[in-house]
Amino acid sequence: MRKKAKIKVDKAAAAERVKNIYPVLKKIYPEAKTALHFKNPLELLIATILSAQCTDTRVNRVTEEVFKKYKSAGDWANAELQQIEADIKSTGFYHNKAVSIKNACTNLLRQSAGKVPDTMQELTSLPGVGRKTANVVLGNAFGVPAIACDTHVIRLSRRLGLSENTNPVKLEFDLNEIVPKKNWTMFSHLLILHGRNTCIARKPDCPNCPVAKYCPAADNPQLW
Ligand code: SF4
Repeated sequence: MRKKAKIKVDKAAAAERVKNIYPVLKKIYPEAKTALHFKNPLELLIATILSAQCTDTRVNRVTEEVFKKYKSAGDWANAELQQIEADIKSTGFYHNKAVSIKNACTNLLRQSAGKVPDTMQELTSLPGVGRKTANVVLGNAFGVPAIACDTHVIRLSRRLGLSENTNPVKLEFDLNEIVPKKNWTMFSHLLILHGRNTCIARKPDCPNCPVAKYCPAADNPQLW
């Protein structure tokens, strides 16, 4: 496996890069948003739990059916674990996901009459809900600025010289410092889309990348 060179990040320079990169990517992906389908915060919470180690396309296929059957936190909390497992099986890691969903919904019933809360503290107090899931829900269901650090955000932040951290929580705090708060949610969507379309993991398409002139890793495989 190729050893990656370490990128040194200067906060002021990183903030300047964000200032340059953001409008370019925003112009290319003006309608960037989560690819997960949902109609309310509970559906997004469930879809995000299901999306771990699974593609959004597959999650959407599964939720299209299960959301007809489970319409409230009570429906999930009162269902048999084995039935939930069977219903979400094709998303992978179905046992752990079913336990997380059932326990989270049981807690929601006890704590807030089944309503999904809109704060980081309350969301991460739910079983199986970490900062990434909480940020997806906050940013997309409640309009609270939030950066969800998935694999694309981690990879692109490193390549673009925005953070030296690959730990998602440390990276999130780094990005919080250099991205204007009102743009947090959109910035993570932009990085995810750019990571899927151009700055792909194995071989980024630097020659055709619209932000290459701001990117320390452009055409430099040692920094990929
Ligand atoms: S220049 Fe290359 S490494 Fe940098 S963001 Fe674009 S595709 Fe990724």
